[in-house]
Amino acid sequence: MSAGRILYIEDNPQNMRLVRKILVHAGYEMLEAENGLTGLDVANAEQPDLILLDINLPDIDGFEVAQRLKASEAMALIPVIALTANAMVGDREKSLEAGCDGYLPKPIGRQDLLDTINEFLSLRSLMSA
Ligand code: MN
Repeated sequence: MSAGRILYIEDNPQNMRLVRKILVHAGYEMLEAENGLTGLDVANAEQPDLILLDINLPDIDGFEVAQRLKASEAMALIPVIALTANAMVGDREKSLEAGCDGYLPKPIGRQDLLDTINEFLSLRSLMSA
């Protein structure tokens, strides 16, 4: 059994490859989508345990993806962690306002990523226990 199923919505192949390496090595099953609308479809069809969400996407942006996830009864409870390269002031707040449950600035650090995922997945299993 995998440690959990995680969907990563990301259009940058290098980030996708890095996160895939980290997650697979840590025992997670990874689902991938290269744009926001595909990400919403995969999330709906696969019901992952957690979603990692890039903010700068080629179609709709990550804020919009988060809003649509949280507006959907079927997906609202899936934890969403925003990942963004923009060290812009307010990015974190904008992500949280859009409905993201957590936020990680890029560049992605292996331990930060795993700690954050673990935190949300253990919260989730506590709630469903
Ligand atoms: Mn991007």
